[in-house]
Amino acid sequence: MNRVYIKTYGCQMNERDSEAVAAMLRARGYRIVNDEDNCDILLLNTCSVRDAAEQKALGKAGYLAQRKKHNPQFVLGILGCMAQNRGAAILEQLPDVDLIIGTQKFHQVPGYLDNLRAARDAGLPIGQSIVDVGEEEGSQNTIRDHLESPERQVTAFVSIQQGCNMDCAFCIVPKTRGDERSRPMDDIVAECRALAERGVREVTLLGQIVTSYGRRDYTHTNGISPFVQLLEKVQSIEGIERIRFTSPHPRGFKQDLVEAYGRLSKLCEYVHLPMQSGSDRILRAMNRPYSSQRYAEIVGALRAVRPDIYLSTDIIVGFPGETDEDFERTCRLFEACDFDMAYIFKYSVRTGTVAAELADQVPDEVKEARNQHLLELLRRNSERRTAALLGTVEEVLVEGPDKTGRHFTGRTRGNRVAIFDAHPRLVGELVPLRVERASVSTLYGELVLNGVA
Ligand code: SAM
Repeated sequence: MNRVYIKTYGCQMNERDSEAVAAMLRARGYRIVNDEDNCDILLLNTCSVRDAAEQKALGKAGYLAQRKKHNPQFVLGILGCMAQNRGAAILEQLPDVDLIIGTQKFHQVPGYLDNLRAARDAGLPIGQSIVDVGEEEGSQNTIRDHLESPERQVTAFVSIQQGCNMDCAFCIVPKTRGDERSRPMDDIVAECRALAERGVREVTLLGQIVTSYGRRDYTHTNGISPFVQLLEKVQSIEGIERIRFTSPHPRGFKQDLVEAYGRLSKLCEYVHLPMQSGSDRILRAMNRPYSSQRYAEIVGALRAVRPDIYLSTDIIVGFPGETDEDFERTCRLFEACDFDMAYIFKYSVRTGTVAAELADQVPDEVKEARNQHLLELLRRNSERRTAALLGTVEEVLVEGPDKTGRHFTGRTRGNRVAIFDAHPRLVGELVPLRVERASVSTLYGELVLNGVA
């Protein structure tokens, strides 16, 4: 009765939180399983950034709750952002949910499940649902355990910060994730070192606004921000070969971070730089503290330091009051930046945010048309950027078998997924790949193994 299945919605932060919960549960004697039809406890780790994500998780929870009719012992939990956003109100719609656990309480999940199981073993009725969505000091330090698996793990996410203080007019994250809190630098470095000892070669540092890392806890030294100091420390860890991070804020791209791309050899030449809009009027209404010109300057500075840099972005179309002219400005900046990848979102009204109260909401069909237009620009650009890679040799980190199990997969430093044939002993190695074929998002090729052990 201790088989746990965790389903995760949303971003890499949520995936990392789920992994930490799974590791804590396994340490307590629970079994983490991959089959949602054969589990005793099902936890949905949820996302609130857009309404569609919440509706998806609510629909799934409603469907799963029916399982209790045949199996009253089945435990259903809702964790993370939607739990934090909606709290006990979820029970009005879904009274059979057993656990509602917020974003600062992930580490309490094992204890709550132990209590539920003990009550059940004692023959007591399971009773009322448990709702815990409070704040907890130091909770950012609890996302540190990693799941060990029999296969070698080559890449890992490392949480460096929780919460966000940016107050973007559209965004619910400050409500669901609380105030910005950073983990101590030494703890993060120790975690990366332990991962390297286990065979991890690439770490992705995670936070809502990673570029603000440690700004209240550490000082700048010689013009170097705490975030760049952290990058320097991770760079010096033997065994770690590649460093990535997400997500940053354009405001954090000062000279020290831009220059880091020229001097930190392990920092991959790939940046996800959320733009949101190319119209200064809309950026101001969004409470984004940069102009379109400043955004273009950052892109130019990064390309000056690393001409081969790969860029991706987030764009919101249909923010309240966005006119055709505003959207055209977004398209122009989008094309000028020559992105490899972009996440394009139709603006979603989030109750409790400033933008939800704004007049002049954009009709759905206009959002959809703008979304399609940008997707088409992105497709053309990605295709062109990918075509330029044909015939070149790219370094890939071999991560393991691909989904089919017939080939191997890995990523280039520019974060492109590659599929190729390899010997299993190459898992964890950095190997040159000659790119022979490409779809918009995936490269196919052959490893260039001369001189590679
Ligand atoms: N670091 C990022 C930044 O600079 O703002 C924040 C990451 S945010 C959680 C992920 C993305 O979701 C945002 O960049 C934004 O494009 C999108 N997003 C947030 N709120 C949204 C909303 N109400 N509607 C549509 N997209 C939204």
